[in-house]
Amino acid sequence: MSSNVGKTPSMTIQESININMVDLQTQYTKIKAEVDARIQEVLTSGKYINGPAVKDFSEQLANFLAVKHLAPCASGTDALQIALMALGLQPGDEVITVAFTFVATAEVISLLGLKPVFVDVNPHTFNMDVEKLEQAITPKTKCIIPVHLYGQSADMERVMQIANQHQITVIEDNAQAIGADFTFSNGTQHKVGTIGHIGCTSFYPSKNLGCYGDGGALFTNDDVLAQKIKTICNHGQSSRYNYDMVGVNSRLDSIQAAILGVKLSYLNEYIQARQTAADFYDTAFEKVAGIETPHRASYSSHVFHQYTLKVKQGRNELQAALKEKGIPSMIYYPKALHVQNAYNYCGYKMGDLPVTEQLCDQVISLPMHTELSTEQLQYITNHVIACVKQSA
Ligand SMILES: *Cc1c(COP(=O)(O)O)cnc(C)c1O
Repeated sequence: MSSNVGKTPSMTIQESININMVDLQTQYTKIKAEVDARIQEVLTSGKYINGPAVKDFSEQLANFLAVKHLAPCASGTDALQIALMALGLQPGDEVITVAFTFVATAEVISLLGLKPVFVDVNPHTFNMDVEKLEQAITPKTKCIIPVHLYGQSADMERVMQIANQHQITVIEDNAQAIGADFTFSNGTQHKVGTIGHIGCTSFYPSKNLGCYGDGGALFTNDDVLAQKIKTICNHGQSSRYNYDMVGVNSRLDSIQAAILGVKLSYLNEYIQARQTAADFYDTAFEKVAGIETPHRASYSSHVFHQYTLKVKQGRNELQAALKEKGIPSMIYYPKALHVQNAYNYCGYKMGDLPVTEQLCDQVISLPMHTELSTEQLQYITNHVIACVKQSA
């Protein structure tokens, strides 16, 4: 009888299999004892802001990334804004980025009175098309923000070559690819996010290294930039009640840092679980016509923040059919930033970024998290294949 707990005879397979896009609760259950103990420690310490938990986690993450300086902050969006503020740019200066990303990447550029310049992406990696990067550079270009979309690095070797040639600063939006490794053509490896002048990440709960609230961080190997970043995060205060620049209030709180400390010790395991799920998907879809599995770039490992298929035809129908079978999916992103009303003022129109626009109509992200069972993966892949074949 006990094996039937929670399962009534009338329950269908799809109900009992209960597939989620992300599954943070099950993950928490497995590390509950450690996490709860660390939270309790912070609560009894009374050091809720900038406590030892924040310092410990910052050191732990800096070590993991092999980066010299790390500044925690309140979110990934804040991290990007603070990074740009640290560059001391002038209104109207141009910042090159992509339109196939989460809005935060472009939002902070606009907020600071800078001009977002969007370049198209590569149709296979979904990341900044380095072939189109150089044409977008003008005398006003001061910064490039590549986004490591879905968990795989942009071509950072080429980005840095171009940036260095033109003396342009590079900020990596690493909200989706923490823990990924980049391999240069000479064989040296670096953690993604530590290759540009500043790297930014997010600890939003569903990110690969997520806390149970909001959080973010900046990292850099540049001593001068590190000092500026830390000052800006703390109201621009250089010494007690002396303000050398306009700053913000952006902090990672001690409870979130304590949680992140526990989760960082599992990050490599979590990445492996994601990669195992991705391998299962890849193998199942290998010979299925009409869908393209994620391209694996030679220069980057893939930490699969998302597992994203390209469906040449009938993407929306596939999504609807999957939903009927109890399989959630997401479209990241259904509408590119260059054609959003908020960015009308930048002067772009439909047709300006053809690859980006096509991807908005073709991509679909399948459930991807650390807790997917083989049974669930089998159920998902069976139905994806059946739905694709049916519509062919
Ligand atoms: C999540 C995300 C951000 C913003 O992070 P928040 O912590 O939610 O502010 C920025 N860029 C990308 C690419 C993201 O995925």
